[in-house]
Amino acid sequence: MLPPIANRFVAGESPAEALEHVRRLNERDVKAIVNLLGEHHGDRETVDADAAEYRRLVADIAGSRLAAAVSVKPSQLGLDLDEDVFRTTLAAVVDAAAERDVFVWIDMEDHTTTDATLDAFEALARNHGGGVGVCVQANLRRTRADIRRLADVPGKVRLVKGAYDPPADVSYTDSARVDREYRDLLELAFERYDGGIGVGSHDPAMIEHAKALHERYGTDFEIQMLMGVREDAQYELAREDEVWQYVPYGDRWKSYFYRRVMERRQNLRFALRAVLTG
Ligand code: FAD
Repeated sequence: MLPPIANRFVAGESPAEALEHVRRLNERDVKAIVNLLGEHHGDRETVDADAAEYRRLVADIAGSRLAAAVSVKPSQLGLDLDEDVFRTTLAAVVDAAAERDVFVWIDMEDHTTTDATLDAFEALARNHGGGVGVCVQANLRRTRADIRRLADVPGKVRLVKGAYDPPADVSYTDSARVDREYRDLLELAFERYDGGIGVGSHDPAMIEHAKALHERYGTDFEIQMLMGVREDAQYELAREDEVWQYVPYGDRWKSYFYRRVMERRQNLRFALRAVLTG
């Protein structure tokens, strides 16, 4: 069972707990992007089990009429095994979701997976005429070209600063430079896209920038933030704009929880306080 300390960042171990969290979010006008925790699966059985759980999840989302999408990780759906396995498994999840009108996001993992991820996204998005979106990372030098490439592909793009630590020859390592890139790439996306843009950031400056770009270009956008991070801001922003919360669940919660706690001193303090006060 999920210990209470992890409840802030993870919705539970079961799909039912995740969907109960989504229901509460929807009551506050926040939509959800549900993610079954799992990555770097090294065997076909685990890949197929996660894909089957995603297919059940999209049916449950549609059946309960929740405002929710799902987000999958390429290495969860077989990319570490073989690119064909990944493409076939992803296609089966996207087909099941499309039948029920549930949107599928594809998370972006480390820079060695970018080509395979974008190729799979592009093929599916063209085939389905939308219903699927992909994440791109502002800290990668290639992303400007990737955004241009994706401009005429149906579907949505989520821009994030980048959670991985790529080598300097392919990335910007200085955080001020990544922020500059994020602003510029956001503008490029607002200028070129009509499918919709996911602003995957907790940074108030980037969210203000996105709102100003929406005023200028009219492009649809959604603000996306993680469960447990700036939740009051999420509810506040949802009064005016579309806000989606990324909601992870599942029994593989430990490394995700550890990452959230370690990325910010305040989160570490929160975790220590929770341990000390039981
Ligand atoms: P940061 O640069 O970390 O912080 C900027 C400012 O935001 C801070 O100064 C503060 O004002 C505010 N802020 C940030 N965090 C907090 C906090 N915990 N509490 C209070 N204020 C805070 N990365 C990937 O590589 N691939 C993905 O597929 C991916 N998907 C994502 C999906 C979503 C919905 C989100 C929100 C992020 C995703 N990321 C992904 C992670 C992303 O790349 C960043 O690592 C992460 O969002 C931190 O960057 P930031 O833009 O939020 O702000």
